[in-house]
Amino acid sequence: MLRIFNTETRVKEDISLSRGEDTLKMYTCGPTVYNYAHIGNFRTYVFEDLLRRSLKYFGFPLKQVMNLTDVEDKTILAAKEKGVPLAEHTQIYKDAFFEDLKTLNVEPVEIYSPATDYIPEMITMIATLVEKGYAYQGKDGGVYYSIKNFPSYGRLSHLKLDTLQEGASERVSDDEYDKESASDFVLWKPYDEERDGDVFWESPFGKGRPGWHVECSAMATKLLGETIDIHVGGVDNIFPHHENEIAQSEGCTGKHFVRHWIHAEHLIVNGKKMSKSLGNFYTLRDLLDKGYTGLEVRYLLLSTHYRTQLNFTLEGIEASRQTLSRLREFICRLRGVNAPTGDSTKVLIEKARQTFNEALSDDLNISAALAALFDMIKPINALIDASKITSDEAQDVLSFLEEIDAALGVLPLEEETLFIPTDVQEAFEKRQAARAGKDWPEADKQRDYIHSQGYQIKDSPEGSRVIKG
Ligand SMILES: [Zn+2]
Repeated sequence: MLRIFNTETRVKEDISLSRGEDTLKMYTCGPTVYNYAHIGNFRTYVFEDLLRRSLKYFGFPLKQVMNLTDVEDKTILAAKEKGVPLAEHTQIYKDAFFEDLKTLNVEPVEIYSPATDYIPEMITMIATLVEKGYAYQGKDGGVYYSIKNFPSYGRLSHLKLDTLQEGASERVSDDEYDKESASDFVLWKPYDEERDGDVFWESPFGKGRPGWHVECSAMATKLLGETIDIHVGGVDNIFPHHENEIAQSEGCTGKHFVRHWIHAEHLIVNGKKMSKSLGNFYTLRDLLDKGYTGLEVRYLLLSTHYRTQLNFTLEGIEASRQTLSRLREFICRLRGVNAPTGDSTKVLIEKARQTFNEALSDDLNISAALAALFDMIKPINALIDASKITSDEAQDVLSFLEEIDAALGVLPLEEETLFIPTDVQEAFEKRQAARAGKDWPEADKQRDYIHSQGYQIKDSPEGSRVIKG
């Protein structure tokens, strides 16, 4: 049984298949591809990957959709500033996004849906909403959703109804708004030549383009059906984006849109909101440039419970590096043992499995799940020290690690495991620091030392590491 907190009901609920269905249907709000995604975005995507892998780990067949928002205010502005066509601009950041996901060992989902491939579906949805009286065309030519016509508006974000009614007379045409009070929001943005250039589609409401919120509703319905099992995003999506999705989808179909809403908390950096002006803004690429690996970043993003704010610090990522190197050393030792007789490891593995599964199935309690792993490593290391573990027993432990890594995706099992002597490791760290500080003579000196000890440095997009030879 896998229980996850549902934002709408505010309690942990069992994940279950819909009646008569054999696959869980999950929709995840994807990136706006106008620039590189930052580590706050990746906190959500790594969490969604843990959720995805855990659903499969507990035996649920899954169909997951992630949209790519490739037309809205920011993408159009960014392409215009660069002086390139919109599709050319967004392609660069779609490619970068997939490359970053690979670096973070995030599993590809079943369907990635670029918004611009589903404009006809969005137009149909808007037309239905107008026909059913949920939406109206304003004097400016834009089509707006009238939230007072959807009485349960606010039920996901638990906003007070009087606050909603107070603002309901206003309307907003921005894709992203962050208001205390809700307003009628835009479904179809009328064409503005200066703002939109050559980005527009023809529709029954005139030339224009869909608003951001309706993109997700139309794609979710088209690709997963009228009712979906799980919808995930960051907490900043709850209001207004997901509230608007409910109003659009349910207004259109008359069916319950989402059975289970799940949201990941924010990431902050050094205790503050991440922002370019504070100098604490990181993309994944910034961290790779500092010499960290995708797996180290993944471990850090993964190891805080998703409903807790994650405070990102460079000390934190150093700690992740040490934890991973401890795991790497453990895996390496297991691969090397071969005592003639051993104490049984079965009991230790079984205890770890049970604790791990209980923790993960309780709202993805990752700290307790990882603790179960480390509680097993300690006594097994002691068995290795005492030459009391056979290669078959070691293989059982390695198989168990592979089993739980199906959910975690973070154990260094596929790497060439190699025990690096401390002096070589230190030289490597000095070399990385020298490179980061552009001190090339020092970097070369450390590299030469590493070579002299029979090791090499392998630089790759995933980061640098030491290998034998
Ligand atoms: Zn969305």
